[in-house]
Amino acid sequence: MINKVIELSEQNLYACYQCGKCSAGCPSVKLMDIMPNQVIRYLQIGKPDKVLQCKTIWICASCYTCSVRCPRGIDLTRVMEAIRLIQLRKNIDYIKVREISEDVLVSVPQIALVAEFRKHTA
Ligand code: SF4
Ligand code: SF4
Repeated sequence: MINKVIELSEQNLYACYQCGKCSAGCPSVKLMDIMPNQVIRYLQIGKPDKVLQCKTIWICASCYTCSVRCPRGIDLTRVMEAIRLIQLRKNIDYIKVREISEDVLVSVPQIALVAEFRKHTA
């Protein structure tokens, strides 16, 4: 699967040397089940299932902090997006509107909801 991620993201994942700077600066890392640098590592060592089943790719806020910090110039934000695309092409929705509580629906800005649906639904 690493070749598909490289093709979609246009990032050379083999350039990653696991320094961890991406994970150290990620504002969402506490909510993730595997760290951003581990996403790349699992792809490098041929364990795509670990990546496809993780919550991390959906927790990622696409904030570009990791991309700015990477000493190897890897845009990890695009890598996360590429993995999400691979999953969404299976036509699975990762959030369902009927399962969102009314409290959330009335309190979250509409633009945030639209962005979430764009990112998490097939
Ligand atoms: S900052 Fe770059 S080189 Fe370092 S672990 Fe993250 S992706 Fe790999
Ligand atoms: S783009 Fe995603 S993985 Fe990178 S720092 Fe932001 S939330 Fe973390």
